[in-house]
Amino acid sequence: MALIVQKFGGTSVGDAGRIREVAEQVARTVARGNQVVLVVSAMGKETDELLRLAADVARSRDGREMDMLITSGEVKAVAVVAMALHDQGLRAESFTGGQAGFVTDANHQNAKIADLRVDRLRQALAEGKVPVVAGAQGLSDHGDVTFLGRGGSDTTAVALAHALGADVCELYTDVSGVFSADPRLVPVARKMATVSFDELLEMTATGCPKPAMRSVEFARSYNVPLHVRSAFTWEPGTWVKMEDDTMEQASVIAVTHDTSDGKITVSGLADRPGVAGTLFRTLADRGVNVDMIVQNVSNGGLTDISFTVPSENFDASLEATRAALGDLGAREVTGDADMAKVSIVGSGMKTDPGVAARMFEALATAGINIEMISTSPIRTSCVIRRGQLEAAVGTLHTAFGLDV
Ligand code: ASP
Ligand code: MG
Repeated sequence: MALIVQKFGGTSVGDAGRIREVAEQVARTVARGNQVVLVVSAMGKETDELLRLAADVARSRDGREMDMLITSGEVKAVAVVAMALHDQGLRAESFTGGQAGFVTDANHQNAKIADLRVDRLRQALAEGKVPVVAGAQGLSDHGDVTFLGRGGSDTTAVALAHALGADVCELYTDVSGVFSADPRLVPVARKMATVSFDELLEMTATGCPKPAMRSVEFARSYNVPLHVRSAFTWEPGTWVKMEDDTMEQASVIAVTHDTSDGKITVSGLADRPGVAGTLFRTLADRGVNVDMIVQNVSNGGLTDISFTVPSENFDASLEATRAALGDLGAREVTGDADMAKVSIVGSGMKTDPGVAARMFEALATAGINIEMISTSPIRTSCVIRRGQLEAAVGTLHTAFGLDV
């Protein structure tokens, strides 16, 4: 008998029929002798709809009220999922995040888990019940409802799997696993049987949309085995675990992409201590998450710095950088909103010289110009023009022998 945390959300519980199918899957899992804890996030596009409702109603965005509103999507979902489980003959009980024992900080809309007290869920399990927990939510120590942020239900599931000592955390979604590239862009992408935490973390950091990056970080820290799989076909998906050093790895296992990058270049900067600090402090204070940064070798005491920011921050970042021009003693600021990033990822690249060269050659052969480059021990990323992204992803997928 295993203890399994199963997480469902979005399209997987998009309507009544889907919810009944999910309940059948839970019933099958229980019938095989397993204990199941469910984590459910809001149905379909409900979270987006609630956000739109708030925007339509008012200009204010009080964090406490926003969290009350958004978390209602998950509360509704757990109640109906529990009812569908009753119809399957299971004893199920729904729980809000607070009832399930999630204590968070009071940072509304992006709360962090501070403590998790699972006694009540353990009790329910001991009584032979299936607990159904609302994802992405908790209670602050003032007793206010908090939302863990977009994609937070994956984190709820991983945290519960860790706290309950579950054998596996199954993240069900509308794709059948983790792919070597986005199958919508690369039809010959392959589903991976396994991927390491480190690799998946690099992939989610460079554009792979699921699972949520924060949940992968959490799973890696506590070594919670993940199984990313389909809620539509129920076939086995991708296992995410610690790296298996006994296996010889291909050097590149995936090509990821991010369509939403803007590039800003500050030229003619004085090459002296403190300039980069001033520039990036300006952006940090506006909450901008800067991605790639490249500084040129200085020439006659002057240098250039280019960096990328998420598209949604592009206009504000450009304006802030322009405003800081005087403080920076820089000559000029230019921006280009139409950039994208393509990355290759794989643990094997640590010991395989020439991977970067192959990447750059493949892009060159396809006539794609590289604007910026950054690397980690297991990833190489290139910033390119957005219009060439699709070609770049396909070219690299083929060049590294990943096509099915
Ligand atoms: N429903 C929330 C969202 O769409 C939380 C989640 O799904 O993880 O982001
Ligand atoms: Mg979601």
